[in-house]
Amino acid sequence: MPYRVTLIPGDGIGPELVEAARRVVEATGVPIEWEVQEAGEAAMARLGTPLPEEVLESIRRTGVALKGPITTPIGTGFRSVNVALRKELGLYANLRPARTIPGVRTRFEAVDLVIVRENMEDLYAGIEHEVIPGVACESIKVITRPATERIVRFAFEYARQNGRRKVTAVHKANIMKLSDGLFLRVAQEVAASYPDIAFEDRIVDNMCMQLVQKPELYDVLVLPNLYGDIISDLASGLVGGLGVAPGANIGEKWAVFEPVHGSAPKYAGQNKANPTATILSAALMLRHLGQADAAERVEAAVRSVIAEGRWVTADLKPSPGDPSAAGTREMAQAIAERVGGSSRK
Ligand code: NAD
Repeated sequence: MPYRVTLIPGDGIGPELVEAARRVVEATGVPIEWEVQEAGEAAMARLGTPLPEEVLESIRRTGVALKGPITTPIGTGFRSVNVALRKELGLYANLRPARTIPGVRTRFEAVDLVIVRENMEDLYAGIEHEVIPGVACESIKVITRPATERIVRFAFEYARQNGRRKVTAVHKANIMKLSDGLFLRVAQEVAASYPDIAFEDRIVDNMCMQLVQKPELYDVLVLPNLYGDIISDLASGLVGGLGVAPGANIGEKWAVFEPVHGSAPKYAGQNKANPTATILSAALMLRHLGQADAAERVEAAVRSVIAEGRWVTADLKPSPGDPSAAGTREMAQAIAERVGGSSRK
């Protein structure tokens, strides 16, 4: 029986990246039937909603989606489809591994972090109002015990299952004594039931400094939504930027895999965007489906193509204007060929 997977191309560079990832997944030989679903700007123009009910129904049916980034208008317009999708499907854990890939130019070596971001509450609860129109606004930060317990437990379980040794809870409990104070207290309580995994906490501003000074000291980080959003981009920067940073949104029943980066509209349709983050997100998806061997083959093929440095997009070349840079499709093709065992000359 083939797996069924919902495929959401998304906006901007999304469609070309999702197509690249699909090609690589198909090269593994894992049988997948894709249900292609439209969300974002195209759905908005055609159906008047950026997140048609059909998309949610498809994911509830298949259990798993591979998704391209979706544009969110800033300040006005429809609310983030990404936030809505996570809320509607209860995708409470956002998992973002950030690991050094040899051949990707960065200032750091041997970074191997896993960011576990709470995905449902905090300032992303969307509770905002104008107190005095045009003069004062309030956004409410929501932290609850059940959501904190669930995300911290997820981080510890992930650590245990993946041979990780330490979980660091990140907060600002010195200032937000109630909300972040609760997050920290619950994290400490949960940590007590995992004596085999080390636990510590850091204040978020100090964490930022520590990560750029000595990232090798950290392992799994667990954070409320907003700090998780910001620190996972920082962690992507440590390993070479958004083009190589994969992600997963995981709930009790369903999961959506997508790169950390956005829709980068200025590169849309130009065959220039780096497909690595989306391909590595697809590898996380394969592992989630129980296809660990195929996931490892994809990850090894990505590492091999990047280490060789020939069939890589401009952002991975020594200078951005390098005329020998490969396109999105060509890089994906080289990776797909290595997944299948042969090598591109
Ligand atoms: P972005 O990630 O789209 O782009 C930031 C910069 O990162 C780009 O200018 C580009 O230089 C680089 N970049 C990103 N992806 C790349 C890739 N694959 N290859 C090469 N370079 C890449 O962030 P943004 O400009 O802040 O956001 C654009 C839109 O994407 C916004 O509407 C935002 O809301 C949306 N967004 C969506 C998601 C999602 O769907 N999960 C996540 C973040 C942002």
